[in-house]
Amino acid sequence: MPTLNFSRFTMISNHKIWEGVHLRKDGTSFPVEVSLKIVQFERDYLISVVRDITERKHAQEAIFGAAQKMDAFFDQSLDGFFFMMLDEPIEWNDQADKNQLLEYVFSNQRITKINHAMLDQYGATTDQFIGITPNEMFRHDVEQGKNEWRKLFDQGKLHNETDERKLSGEQIFVEGDYICLYDSEGRITGHFGIQRDVTQGKRMVHAIVESERKYHYLFENNPAPMWIYDLDTFSFLEVNRAAVDHYGYSHQEFLKMTIKDIRPLDDIVRLLTDVESTQQILNHAGTWRHRKKNGAIIYVDITSHLIDFEEKQARLVISTDISDRINAQLDLEAEKKLLRTLIDNLPDPIYVKDREGRKMLANMADVQNIGCASEADTLGKTDLELFGNAIGKRGYDEDLRIMENGQAMLNREEIFTKSDGFHRWLLTSKVPLFDQYGKTIGLVGIGRDITGIKKAEEQINKLTKSIEQSPSTIIITDTKGNIEYVNPKFSEITGYTKEEVIGKNPRILKSGEMPAAVYLQLWEAITSGEVWRGEFLNRKKNGALYWEWATMTSIRNEAGEITNYIAIKEDISLRKQMEADLIVSKEKAEESDRLKSAFLANMSHEIRTPLNSIIGFSELLADKTFNTDQKDDFIHHIIANGNNRLAIISDIMDISKMESGELKIHKDQINVIELISKIRSQYAIQIEGKEIEFKVDIPDNMSEIEILADEDRLMQVFNNLLSNALKFTSQGSVQIDFQIQCRMVEFCVSDTGIGIPDEFHAKIFDRFRQVEDSSTRKFGGNGLGLAITKNLIELMGGEIRLESQLGKGAAFYFTIPLIKY
Ligand code: ADP
Repeated sequence: MPTLNFSRFTMISNHKIWEGVHLRKDGTSFPVEVSLKIVQFERDYLISVVRDITERKHAQEAIFGAAQKMDAFFDQSLDGFFFMMLDEPIEWNDQADKNQLLEYVFSNQRITKINHAMLDQYGATTDQFIGITPNEMFRHDVEQGKNEWRKLFDQGKLHNETDERKLSGEQIFVEGDYICLYDSEGRITGHFGIQRDVTQGKRMVHAIVESERKYHYLFENNPAPMWIYDLDTFSFLEVNRAAVDHYGYSHQEFLKMTIKDIRPLDDIVRLLTDVESTQQILNHAGTWRHRKKNGAIIYVDITSHLIDFEEKQARLVISTDISDRINAQLDLEAEKKLLRTLIDNLPDPIYVKDREGRKMLANMADVQNIGCASEADTLGKTDLELFGNAIGKRGYDEDLRIMENGQAMLNREEIFTKSDGFHRWLLTSKVPLFDQYGKTIGLVGIGRDITGIKKAEEQINKLTKSIEQSPSTIIITDTKGNIEYVNPKFSEITGYTKEEVIGKNPRILKSGEMPAAVYLQLWEAITSGEVWRGEFLNRKKNGALYWEWATMTSIRNEAGEITNYIAIKEDISLRKQMEADLIVSKEKAEESDRLKSAFLANMSHEIRTPLNSIIGFSELLADKTFNTDQKDDFIHHIIANGNNRLAIISDIMDISKMESGELKIHKDQINVIELISKIRSQYAIQIEGKEIEFKVDIPDNMSEIEILADEDRLMQVFNNLLSNALKFTSQGSVQIDFQIQCRMVEFCVSDTGIGIPDEFHAKIFDRFRQVEDSSTRKFGGNGLGLAITKNLIELMGGEIRLESQLGKGAAFYFTIPLIKY
């Protein structure tokens, strides 16, 4: 084991110094240092300085002891020690060329002493170290080494940490303290170093620093807001970036706040209680409400951990914002609640059943329908259990079938007997529910009570039918008057189909015969909500006119607004006709009355005159002075007047029989030619002496014509027509013609007499009707002949018509059914 050679630290000068022992007077000795120096001053003087070095000796001895101790310490020290000494001391000051000196140092300073600890640090032996120079030590980076040396020499000492390599190449961290050694003249003789291998510590520190760095990084960069708060003061001690970002407070603001400041006021009591009662190191505090800087309330999930932070009891808090989840949950719950409230308050029964048809949900309407007190009474039960009757079986089977088929049943109408025994109509829909794999997991059912609708439907049906089948015409228009609806009676009356009039205006029915004012009044009334009643003369599709009695009014909606107009109309054509007929009848009655008066006046004349003649001539015959020469003449008058009277009475009898329907006709086959020939021969006698030609034209080819008629009555017809013709014709001719027309024979009795004015053509066949009235009587007659004639012809199946012009004669045409020709 080498020892320190202190002589190397003693300065040896050129003058003479030595140590010796001097005696004191009392005989005790003491060590001295004697210094002899030759001083030249004119001549050489010897200056001797004797210095008591007792103290020094003591010190040297102490040093020597210390050096020995030092050597022991040096060797046993766990720290590395070494000495590097220069071959020659150097003057290191500002005047020196330090670079040059360092050059020298790096080649001439050598490790002179090194302990085991130091060797261990480098894994080397003494031989490998002793004598090596800095150049060898800093072989790879001499400049770096020189910098360190410069610092050491400048400051006299140096503390540093360096990473170095063992001889094996392994990296070590070394903490070193280096102290310069000087000689008595202040020159640097070398330095010694104490080196500790701090590799382990360094690594630990590095690991700790790294770990802290990591944790700080994790804390700072954790996406979840994190903070540390003081358990005593609740103050924030540290917050991470996410907290700053999320809560809106700056880092500085946070550090001035307490955790109470991020809570809604309502939650603070709970917070304090919670903090106080929380004993666990790791605490899942659950869901809390926090308030951001902007006042927004968020929901957070809090986890905290008890830690010591800067010598304070603190909690590290991780806050996870679960507002979205909570809000979604709250929304969902609110939605569920809303849905449930909605479902419960819907008047329609709504229910959900599981795959076995058991109720999982039933709203109030359903519960009531079933007749249970509460939903709980229905849950878990099938329809079979709930109803237990035919309805229960039907519903249950239906449920299973729907779930089996996976097909919805929509809007099935069913009669449902409620718990109160009343029958109700339900419109039931059942829709299967599927899970995410498409498997049926149940069904949802809705049963709408449509009893009201059904009743309303029935009512509407009734009303619709009554409108459809109404004997009145019904028209419904919109507010613009365009037709929206007409009932079948409308089509029946007007001839227009529904399709033809929908969208049209009822003015298509206008006849043009009504005054415009009527329509104005009508619209004024109905647009102001009043009812209008009145008559219309309208025109059908075929152009025919017809009378209607209309009631029109407006239809209002619930808001009282007019939405439509409705017209209910009756065809009063018949009534109108009857009225007209009544008027005609009345006029006729008046006319009849008048005619009757005329007839009576006529009769008194027509009946009296022949009677007077008969009585007069009979009296003359009974007179004694009667001239018998005149007898034939008188008798002829009596017979003629008698016949005349008979004819009048016959006419009256006939007409009364006709009116009572008692006149009987005996139809027979009559040969027309024979009949006409007979008439011709009869009238040939009557016409004798008159200036009238009697023409009867019988075509040769018509000998076989036969008609079906009552011969006597047909003769009566000819008599009436011919006697009139003769009566009203003074000259010219009276003619009989006939021809075949279809299945009839048309006869014509014409004359060239006075004719009949147009206005009499229609009524000349009426009873008692005569062209001349009683005041202008010239021709006589009772006005019954043509009425009887017409009646007889019609009874025989024919018709009669007149062609005549005043002054140009008259021609009466009548037909009789033909049998053969
Ligand atoms: P009467 O001849 O007895 O008055 P009728 O019924 O036979 O009754 O005739 C009615 C009326 O018709 C006559 O009064 C006469 O005015 C008119 N009339 C009938 N036949 C003729 C005729 N051939 N020419 C002109 N007027 C006629």
